Amino acid sequence: MAEQSLMGVFYLKYRPQTLKDLVGQESVKKTLQSAYSANKLSHAYLFVGPRGTGKTSTARILAKMVNCEEKDSPCNRCTTCLSITDGSNLDLIEIDAASNRGIEDIRSLREKIKLSPTSSKKKVYIIDEVHMLTTEAFNALLKTLEEPPSHALFILATTDVSKMPKTILSRVQRLDFKLASPQELEETLSKIIKQEKIDIEEDAIKSLVKKAEGSFRDGVKLLDQIASLDKKITKEVIENIFQESGFGEIFKLINCLLQKDTTAGLTILSNFAQKGVDFKQLNLLLMENLRYLVLIKNGLGALLVEPHLSNENYQSLVELSANFSNQTLIKILDILQKAYEKSKFTSIPSLPLELAVVEICSPESIETVENKQSLQSNDLRELKVVVEDRESKIEEEQIHSQPSIIKEPSPTIHHPPSNSDSPDILKLKEKWTFVLETIRPYNFSLEALLRSISISDCTDSQVIIEVPYSFHQRIMEAPKNRDLLESILSDILGRSIKVSVILGSRPARSEDVANIEIAADDEIIRAAAEIFNSDTVN
Ligand SMILES: [Zn+2]
Repeated sequence: MAEQSLMGVFYLKYRPQTLKDLVGQESVKKTLQSAYSANKLSHAYLFVGPRGTGKTSTARILAKMVNCEEKDSPCNRCTTCLSITDGSNLDLIEIDAASNRGIEDIRSLREKIKLSPTSSKKKVYIIDEVHMLTTEAFNALLKTLEEPPSHALFILATTDVSKMPKTILSRVQRLDFKLASPQELEETLSKIIKQEKIDIEEDAIKSLVKKAEGSFRDGVKLLDQIASLDKKITKEVIENIFQESGFGEIFKLINCLLQKDTTAGLTILSNFAQKGVDFKQLNLLLMENLRYLVLIKNGLGALLVEPHLSNENYQSLVELSANFSNQTLIKILDILQKAYEKSKFTSIPSLPLELAVVEICSPESIETVENKQSLQSNDLRELKVVVEDRESKIEEEQIHSQPSIIKEPSPTIHHPPSNSDSPDILKLKEKWTFVLETIRPYNFSLEALLRSISISDCTDSQVIIEVPYSFHQRIMEAPKNRDLLESILSDILGRSIKVSVILGSRPARSEDVANIEIAADDEIIRAAAEIFNSDTVN
């Protein structure tokens, strides 16, 4: 069985074989036991609950209960019980709807269901992740559920009941599985630890329970992993292992990027932060999994099977890869790569990844870039944006008469002509495009703002920046923004730099330069609302 290698020894060995063995899930146990005793089992059940809470285990127990040859059911000794345990029973049909979701699969099920059971009283169908079925397949299934043969028992299982058609819900009896409480998990894991004589510290058990997050399956799998380490298990050992098993959350995060769900993405990051996860490592892990998607998409998935990825995780990625274009993956990886570079000099460890998630999820980011493929470079793209902003305000010929103002992002626009530039200021001007490019992935609005500032002075420890408006000053002085700019300027000048922002007078200028400024200001005003909402409220 494929499951053996996936789940590990303990999962199979300690899988509950009777309702009594099932830890927690009191209401499920009670409902099934009393229906069984009264001979009033439904012909179709829907098991709803998070992964790893015992839905399939319970389905198999139920299959044994209806087919066991002994009175004391399930006996787990008779031929039928044993054949269900070892997966050889011909009257138990398990379908994984995640990989058999089409009409053909259900049609063949409908054909076969008419036939009587081979050796048992009932034919039992377990359809896992049933919400993944296509509409046509659901319709076919519905017909079967409407006129079920008396020898059939259906057990549907789902982790996402919201995706189930109401017509199906009205035809089945729903039972809800809950995540295990920490006490229940600790009890179960401790039993295995004792039986297997695993050398583990009390603290490490607590931390194991925490990592399992209410899933028996995850808890037992983790225990299986550490038991094979052949050393005393401390809390630290568990922490290290968890680094590798955070796949589920990474997977969810990638899904958020796909759905462009900024809030959900940032929530996952904040959960990681609370767990004390290293954000640089997290970023790498995220990039690694996106790289896997690229490989899978381009026919190299075979390189990724164990030991790189468990079969289960690999399958999840294969499904996910269908939803991303190569272009989107490349763009996301590019943004994450930049965020990773930035994470080397940020004073807020979570910031680069947070901003990367915001950028990836922003409606204009990926699509815009994909739609504007014809543009050759960032500069051209920026030029186009500025030009578009100007078009409504300025006559076409004026654009051509002032091309240098648009093309060269530079902090010198308002620079007083009398001030002779120091070597440091010259260096900063020279690198200003780099400054803008570096900031862009973090914060579009700060980047836009930095196009209209001037550097008024640069000392050993300080760069003084002059801005035309007081709200520019407030944005620049927001701690996150100032930290970001300071770390970049420090990097360029090779010493620790503080940034001071002063308010300058608006210099006189020709009409269309003023128009550019107004165009930029619209963007800044929009951005300012965002920044003030998130950064400077306190
Ligand atoms: Zn039996």
